[in-house]
Order: sequence, then C-alpha cells, then structure tokens
Amino acid sequence: MAKTIVIIGAGLAGTTAARELSERGQAVTLVDPAAGETSERPPLSKHLFDGSRYHLPFHLEASELITFVRDRATEITLAEAAAHSQQASPTVDTPVAGTVHLASGETLDFTHCILATGMEANRPEIPGYPDALPVYNLTEAEWIRKFVAESDGPLNVGVLGSGYLGMEVATSAVAAGHEATVYLRGDEPLRKQLSAHVRTALFEKHKDAGVKFVAHTSSPDDIPADTHNLFVTSVGARPALIPIDGVRPAVAWEVNEKLATSHAGVWAAGDCALITDGAFALDHPWACEPVAESHGKYLAELLSSDDGGTGEPWSDIPWHWSFQGPEKVFTAGLTSPDATDTLIRHDPSGKKFQVFHFDGSAPDAQLVGVETLNWPPLQAAARRVLAGNNIPTRAQIEDPDFDFKAHSRL
Ligand SMILES: Cc1cc2nc3c(=O)[nH]c(=O)nc-3n(C[C@H](O)[C@H](O)[C@H](O)COP(=O)(O)OP(=O)(O)OC[C@H]3O[C@@H](n4cnc5c(N)ncnc54)[C@H](O)[C@@H]3O)c2cc1C
Repeated sequence: MAKTIVIIGAGLAGTTAARELSERGQAVTLVDPAAGETSERPPLSKHLFDGSRYHLPFHLEASELITFVRDRATEITLAEAAAHSQQASPTVDTPVAGTVHLASGETLDFTHCILATGMEANRPEIPGYPDALPVYNLTEAEWIRKFVAESDGPLNVGVLGSGYLGMEVATSAVAAGHEATVYLRGDEPLRKQLSAHVRTALFEKHKDAGVKFVAHTSSPDDIPADTHNLFVTSVGARPALIPIDGVRPAVAWEVNEKLATSHAGVWAAGDCALITDGAFALDHPWACEPVAESHGKYLAELLSSDDGGTGEPWSDIPWHWSFQGPEKVFTAGLTSPDATDTLIRHDPSGKKFQVFHFDGSAPDAQLVGVETLNWPPLQAAARRVLAGNNIPTRAQIEDPDFDFKAHSRL
C-alpha cells in the first residue's frame, strides 16, 4: 500500500523525520506555518547577550519528496474504519487513516501522521513590566537581541523562573557584564530539574558570579516595578496540541514505547509526546533536543519499514545539556531531582563531578542515570555506558578504583 505521510510541525522532530524519510525514498508532507524556515531552539536562550551566533537554521528544502504546507493544522478527523481499529498501522482495508484540517480550510488525507507540534511557553503578565516576554522562539530572541544591541551600557535584567531557560538567560547576562535578578517561587533554582548536589553547586557558582536571587516570589505582583530595563519570563511550557476527533489530551499525546498514540495511523514525537511505556516512560514529555531528534529518526525508520510497525521500541538514551554562563550541566538516562541515594565522584581537582542514579540502594542495583557538571568527556562516557551492555552496579561505582571512562569503552 502506498503511504501518504503527513508530519505536523517542522521543528527538530518533524524536520528530522521528514529528512530521513525522504532519504529513504518516501514522500512526506510537512505542515508548519514556518516550514523550511525553522531553526534550533537551544541557542536562543544562551546567546542573547554575547553577540554570537544564535540562529541555526535546519536547512531543509522542499524537493520532489518533501512538500511544505505553510499553514497551521487545526484538527484531525479519523477515518471511521481506522477509528475502530486497534492496529498501529492502517491496513489495505483502511487506506486512509484520517484527515488533517488546516487553518486555511484545506485538508490533507493521510495513511500515517506524525504529530510533532512541540510546546508553547507559558506567558504570565508581570504588572510592572508590560513588555516582559519569554524567550521561546526566534521572534522573541530577535526582539531581545535588538533591545540589548540598542542599549548603551549594562542592563538590569529581571527573570521570573529558575528552570533551565531562566538560569541560562540570567547567567549569560551576567557573563556579558549585565546585572541579573532571578525571581523564584521556592528557595533554590533548578529544583525540578537536577538533584540536590548539582543544583546546590550551581546555585553557589551563580551567586558567586553575581546573579541575584529573590526567593519565595509567590506572585508576579511581588516583583518591584521600575527596577529592570529588560524582563524575561521563564515559567514553563506546555505541549501544543490539536484535537483528534474533537478531543485534545489534558497534558500531551500519550504514546507507547513505539511512539504510537492510541489512534491508528497517528504517532507523536518530541516535546508533544508523553511516553507511557518502556524503559523511558515518564509522567511528562522529555522535552530535550536529543530526544526530539532521536524520535524523528526512529519514526522515519519505523514508518518506512514494511513490517507494519512490529520493529523494536524506541530505546536511545535520553540526554540533556544546559549551558549556564560558564557552567555546563548534563543529564543522561533516568535521573531524579528528588533522588537521595545517589553516589558522587569528583575529578582530582574537585571542581568537576558526576552524580550517579541507581534503580535501588542494594550493592547490585544498576546504574540508570548520570548527572555531570563541567566534565563533557565524562558525560560522553555516561551516554556510552548507559547505551551499552555492561551497565555497572552501585558496588562498582562505589569502588574508588573503578575507572568509569575505561568501562565506557568496553
Ligand atoms: C529557548 C530554548 C532552549 C532550549 N535549550 C535546550 C538545551 O540546551 N538542551 C536541550 O536538550 N533542549 C533544549 N531545549 C528543548 C529543545 O529545543 C526541544 O526539546 C526541541 O526543540 C523539541 O523539538 P520538537 O520538534 O518536538 O518541537 P519544536 O522544535 O518546538 O517544533 C515544533 C514545531 O511545530 C510547529 N507547530 C506547532 N503547532 C502547530 C500546528 N498546529 N500546525 C502546524 N505546525 C505547528 C511549530 O511552529 C514548531 O515549528 C530548549 C528549548 C527552548 C525553547
């Protein structure tokens, strides 16, 4: 059966899937108002103040096999037969699985559809700063960079939120000679992202570098007006979801370990997908760049195969990086901000370290995740180890003579 593949969203997951499918000789239609003009998001929050390159286009071009539809998808309706099928792929009897409806009123039928619509930033109003904005897309980053370029002298930057993006903005501002104050709800930054040892180390480094923190800011109303000349909000994001047969999920598209939704012929990838099955199931989307790219590659392989989706589950080791001024922090595999029975290994200088997470506290518990601060070669080792067949135990990592880097090469 000829496949008609429609990908909604031309971010990293959608672009990767389109490129890889076309390289396999499969035609795809890519729907996004900015199809063909999208770019990577990570540099946006890291290079607002240093004048370096922040716009990294994906360079995907329309071709014989890639059709761009520069429009917004508004909903999907499923073909009746497919809607009642429990199979992951359409069959010969159900050649069309569904239809994508576009804002323009046009429609696109599909046999296979990948939802790759990413996330949208939350946009709280800050009473004292009507121009406050998140830095989530290119337009916002360009507005901020122009503001910075046109300012004479150092800025006083306010940031609401202390997750990865908020910390990247505040620390890069300070590294470039500006002042930055972070307003946070709790009493320490990165509380939901990193375990206690890593976030405490970063908190101290950022304070030493000059970033100011105002803890227990319970409402934007508490932020003093007329203090900052630039204000950036960074209080999370939520998946951009279009309804299927009139139903929009509460959080994200729940997918199984092969990234299939419960709707026949519909898969989800990247930030809009919530994996509910398998080794990397979570209660929220992974929301990191390597995962979005890996999802795109995985679905391209799955959908271009002729076995109807009976291949292996998605299994790349998820990982994330965040560059906060001069500090570089990474995670690989399953790490938890609430973990207490971790092990820590430092480099001889004591300045770099890794935090190891296990699937239990017994000596034979297996390594499941690693956080790495300022030690990129050891982050690479962690990814190799977690992806390999020689997963070390807690007892091995605890042994001072155990050479983690050498083990990663086994
Ligand atoms: C500022 C910033 C910094 C980041 N830094 C890091 C980092 O340092 N490390 C890291 O690992 N991750 C980082 N991330 C996360 C990473 O960028 C995302 O995980 C990744 O971009 C997700 O890719 P995606 O394809 O799922 O979604 P996106 O890249 O968000 O793409 C989604 C696309 O879907 C389109 N779309 C949405 N709705 C519709 C619709 N209805 N119809 C048609 N098209 C639609 C959008 O226009 C968009 O082009 C960062 C994210 C941001 C915003």
